[in-house]
Amino acid sequence: MRAILTCVTQQHDEQLLLLAAIVCCVGIYATSAIASHAARSEGSVRRKWGLVSIVAGGCTAWATHMIALLAFRPGMAAGFEPILTAASLLLVISGIGLGVALSIGSHRRQRRFLAGVIIGLGVTALHYVGQSSYRVTGHVAWDMSVVPPSIIISLGLSGLALTLAGERDRFVRRLAAPLLLLSIVILHLGGMTAMTLTFDPAVPLPTSAIAPSTIAPVIAAVSFGLLTLAFLGLRMTLNARAQMRRDRERLRELASVALEGLAVCDGEHVTAANRSLEQLSGMSQAELIACSITRLLPGLVVSDLPEQEEREAELVGADGQFVPVRVLRKTVSLGHKRQTVIAFRDQRERLRSEARLRSLAFTDTVTGLPNRAQFGDLLAHRVALREQAGGFAVLMLDLDRFKFVNDTLGHAMGDELLRKVAARLRSVLAAGDVVARLGGDEFAILLLDSAAVSAPEAVAAQLVSVIDRAFLLEGQLIHVGVSVGIAVGRQDGLQADDLMRHADLALYKAKADGRGTYRLFEPALATRMLMRSRLEADMRRALNDGEFELHYQPLVDAKTGEVTTAEALVRWRHPEHGLIPPADFIPLAEETGLIAQLGAWVLGTACTHAAGWPSTIKVAVNLSPVQFRDDGLPELVASTLKASGLAADRLELEITEGVMLDDEARTLALLTKLKAVGVSLAMDDFGTGYSSLSYLRRFPFSKIKIDRSFIRMLPEDSESAAIVRAIITMGACLGMATTVEGVETAEQYDFVAAERCDQIQGYHVSRPLPFADFLTFLNPPKMAA
Ligand code: C2E
Ligand code: CA
Ligand code: CA
Repeated sequence: MRAILTCVTQQHDEQLLLLAAIVCCVGIYATSAIASHAARSEGSVRRKWGLVSIVAGGCTAWATHMIALLAFRPGMAAGFEPILTAASLLLVISGIGLGVALSIGSHRRQRRFLAGVIIGLGVTALHYVGQSSYRVTGHVAWDMSVVPPSIIISLGLSGLALTLAGERDRFVRRLAAPLLLLSIVILHLGGMTAMTLTFDPAVPLPTSAIAPSTIAPVIAAVSFGLLTLAFLGLRMTLNARAQMRRDRERLRELASVALEGLAVCDGEHVTAANRSLEQLSGMSQAELIACSITRLLPGLVVSDLPEQEEREAELVGADGQFVPVRVLRKTVSLGHKRQTVIAFRDQRERLRSEARLRSLAFTDTVTGLPNRAQFGDLLAHRVALREQAGGFAVLMLDLDRFKFVNDTLGHAMGDELLRKVAARLRSVLAAGDVVARLGGDEFAILLLDSAAVSAPEAVAAQLVSVIDRAFLLEGQLIHVGVSVGIAVGRQDGLQADDLMRHADLALYKAKADGRGTYRLFEPALATRMLMRSRLEADMRRALNDGEFELHYQPLVDAKTGEVTTAEALVRWRHPEHGLIPPADFIPLAEETGLIAQLGAWVLGTACTHAAGWPSTIKVAVNLSPVQFRDDGLPELVASTLKASGLAADRLELEITEGVMLDDEARTLALLTKLKAVGVSLAMDDFGTGYSSLSYLRRFPFSKIKIDRSFIRMLPEDSESAAIVRAIITMGACLGMATTVEGVETAEQYDFVAAERCDQIQGYHVSRPLPFADFLTFLNPPKMAA
């Protein structure tokens, strides 16, 4: 170290040394400014400026070295060997070129270090080849204890300088140039110090050696060239900065009007953000700029995002709150720099409305319970988990008289009732069980609670009993019941659909068994269902094959005992099962819609038959409520009458009270139209349904048929007697005739006749008779005397 210092202070011309340092600095600046410009440019311009910066780098090293050599005062005549001098310049340019080529585009530190070492080697070659071109009148000796260490240190520093030059951190990057300078200085001073010159007049300078005074202008010219380049570089840098400022300003203006949050990033660092991002994150511009993008978007490697493709992400805003966003990355050139712009689109509103839609799609709006879709999902999920999660049961529920409440008391009350039903169902179940409303008055339950699953019938019984209690709705007590079908999910291989179907079949059975009860699914039910569907097919066939027939039951005048009317009652003469009563097939015909065809056949046949009877005898035909839903009914009746030739006043249509429960205005209109055709209307089975006086008064019935259930206990039962008496009186007051059905005994006959009903029907008079027998009944053959 001492030697180096002595060398610097005693053997050198300080002013020239200073000049060397200045040329070196200017050269390094020119080189790096030109290199930056090359980096900002593209294509051939980039290559051109790249080459210029390499040559400038080489010239810098060379000129520095040469000026430093000139500054050396060997104390004897000295000169430069021209070829070696030129070779030293070429070597250093090649070394730098090689190093730069190696380091271009490399993010790997080792590679940059290697490039630095190669550049250092170029400089070393420059130095020692240059040194050997330095000729004096004397001998040159090298102190080898100085040369290798100074070379090694210099190479290390040069490698380090290039490594740092490629780092992201700007501060670290700035250390590169001084380090490179230091590496050159150490190499040069080390080399100079190690060299000892001994004057020997016997060693002349070679004739080819160029005097320092001759080479000085060359060096000056090169230095001047470097200076020019430095100015050029400076101008280009300033231009680039101005361009960058303008671009940034433009971007900021654009960003400030953008609805989306925008952040401009230089690598990991946020360099700018717009108002929207401030609002989105709840952070100020300054806070955002202090942030790295990974802090804002943890779990997302921004540089890995494909451009132009949105990604879901979570923005971590102030106070660490998460904001769902979609992000889009785009690389833009800002000035000559490539920067990343990240756009943030707020997803909160979209997610909220999606959630709202989802919950709407999966819940029943009236009760807030899961709907059919969600129940299906939950059940399917449970079925899939069966192995691990143990047993469960599916319950299907159907309210028994809901339609009546809904139709008579209005939909608002109906909805209120559904909510109350839902609450009561819930009250019976465990927290983990699921209640859903499938639609209308249908509910479904997924029993998961293990105690409940082991005894689903006990739960069903409880459900039936809570719903059986009256509901209080706007001051009215309302009774509905519920029927329940149960399917247990124990069995393997059953899918959600199968379970729902099984529970449905069990429900069907519960309803068929009189409602207000529950039934457990059993395979026999499925068989029965199968039979039902066979029956349906069979019935269609029977209609075509003419297997239905009409029997007639006479109605007699209570005073005279004369037959006034005959009620047509349908039967099915089945080739295998014999005569089937209507109760066994009418409900199915109603469910399947076959009743329309069957009813039309009954009407036509009855009218045709009656047309052949004495004109004093009317025919009564039963109409199903299902037939009543068809607006074409009055036309059908009119055309049937016309086709059969029966006078309209000889046809009586029997309608049950159930019909009245449908849309009242429509029913009234239809009944009025029927009446206009000229037929008479009788209210059948009076007293069994929701019979009310108001119906009777409002609708154009000419006759009431008192249901046979009131007659069964006559004449002993005083309550039945009172009811029958009251209905007869009431009918008389409303100007309606009364028929008493189901009169089986002489006592009953005498009782009702005494009560002044108008007509009597029942086994006591006659059972329903096949057509031919009925004719015989009308005209009994004269007994042979
Ligand atoms: P309904 O209209 O009340 O018909 C009277 C039913 O009572 C008939 O049963 C008849 O056989 C029965 N009956 C008559 N007198 C007595 C009696 O003294 N004691 C007892 N215990 N029963 C008596 P049926 O023929 O089995 O008909 C049952 C129901 O089927 C009918 O009840 C009616 O609602 C329906 N129905 C019958 N034929 C038709 C039809 O052509 N169309 C429609 N839509 N329904 C029909
Ligand atoms: Ca009837
Ligand atoms: Ca009846």
